[in-house]
Amino acid sequence: MSTATEPTAPPTVGPPDLLFELRDIHAGYGPFRSLFGVNIAIPPQSVLALLGANGSGKTTVVRVASGLIRPTAGQLLWEGEDVTGRRPYKLAQMGIVHAPEGRSVFASLTVEENLVLTFREVFGRRGTKGKLEQAYELFPRMGERRRQLAGTLSGGEQRMLSLARVLVRGPQLLITDELSLGLAPVIIDEVYETLGTIRDSGCALMIVEQHVHQALTLADNVVVLAKGRVVLSGTREELGDISERLLPAVHGEI
Ligand code: ATP
Repeated sequence: MSTATEPTAPPTVGPPDLLFELRDIHAGYGPFRSLFGVNIAIPPQSVLALLGANGSGKTTVVRVASGLIRPTAGQLLWEGEDVTGRRPYKLAQMGIVHAPEGRSVFASLTVEENLVLTFREVFGRRGTKGKLEQAYELFPRMGERRRQLAGTLSGGEQRMLSLARVLVRGPQLLITDELSLGLAPVIIDEVYETLGTIRDSGCALMIVEQHVHQALTLADNVVVLAKGRVVLSGTREELGDISERLLPAVHGEI
């Protein structure tokens, strides 16, 4: 009789059909409490729009989801496995990638230098060429402007460049925070078109937005926060006439 023990799979505590789940999350900053029992579930390859007024807790959810803040209570489940308390780089290695608010590019370097810097760090000198081609395929505008200083790109183009830098890590879940902040409507459309391409490539998205209509063009599921609590959630179909029901919630009126 063999005494060797079978390798055991990590314990699964969440539904296996979900990619990521925030379960009953409480979090804050020192004595200040910002989130009170927030539940969010993201199936694989789906798009979640996280909406809410200023100060409702959206960025705090993002910080918890990417490991920057440890919740004071509740769990983070990745493919059913409890990953609460994992460091941000561990979560990034698993496939959770956060595209932060604003334009995280090196202004005094060209588009290509920005990309090469990131790709060399992640893939080494050899992998860089292939990744550059991949990035230019996904963002043709970046290819056209490869020799331009990143600081002189338009706001939307700078956001595309920062997306190109994070996407090449092949995330399974991309979290974007106020991607359309300060952008002209026509550029926002372009950035959202890119997000659609990313979704079509099989990556789930958590889109944090104040531009409700824009986020809803892509969303499968919607969560609205107010004062650190979920006040409305469901599929886009379940919520029916979304603009009428969501706008008062997003503006903190319910
Ligand atoms: P906005 O749309 O204005 O960015 P938000 O929905 O992202 O808002 P959060 O940034 O998550 O909201 O803030 C939620 C609450 O936590 C707010 O009351 C805010 O003042 C507070 N808060 C955020 N960051 C900190 C911090 N570093 N220290 C103390 N309190 C904070």
